[in-house]
Amino acid sequence: MSITDNYQRLRQAVPEEVQIVAAAKTRTAAEIEEAIAAGITIFGENYVQEAEQIKAALGEAAARVQWHLIGHLQTNKVNKAVQLFDVIQTVDSLKLARAIDTRATRPLSVCIEINSGRELQKAGVFPEEAEQLVRDMASLENLRVIGLMTMGPRFGDPEAARPYFQTTRQLFDHLGSFDLPGVSMEILSMGMSNSYQVAIEEGSNMIRVGTDLFGARR
Ligand SMILES: *Cc1c(COP(=O)(O)O)cnc(C)c1O
Repeated sequence: MSITDNYQRLRQAVPEEVQIVAAAKTRTAAEIEEAIAAGITIFGENYVQEAEQIKAALGEAAARVQWHLIGHLQTNKVNKAVQLFDVIQTVDSLKLARAIDTRATRPLSVCIEINSGRELQKAGVFPEEAEQLVRDMASLENLRVIGLMTMGPRFGDPEAARPYFQTTRQLFDHLGSFDLPGVSMEILSMGMSNSYQVAIEEGSNMIRVGTDLFGARR
């Protein structure tokens, strides 16, 4: 199956209001060009350096689509990240938020990454820490908090991920009920190739799909 076929099948399988992010780690510029031609409008990259290389290789085609950072961001990469990405989905500390705010030269949209599985070695804030972080971030001039992102623990069975998606959805609704400057809960980014159906059932409106679009990673 080609990327175009895969995308058409996926686009038909998910509700219209659910945005599809092509998770593009390890993919070549040629693969991403095919994905752009197929109609994909949002690409997710895990690493600043990989995004930089791919965008350079794509040239002006890169400007026709949106780029989201979906991997962890180190403070020393923030300078480049604010130039490369339209949305940084993985803010998980006030320190990182401040670094982005200081270096952004335009209003920048970000999501809070939620460690919904409360896994110690994983990125993201624990659900109960999110409210304080969002309240602290509301005062940052250049940041727009537009939603939440979560990975959830990796399971073979996507049903096992459901409670973590539910937790994140409840938090999304809770944080959306406040009226904080620069904060609006619009994006709920959850679900990957093996779990997007469950994630959408639990309220996801943005899925991040790699394998189902591009095939298995080499
Ligand atoms: C790789 C990746 C995905 C997509 O994973 P697939 O299983 O290939 O669909 C989604 N989100 C993040 C953060 C990723 O790193």
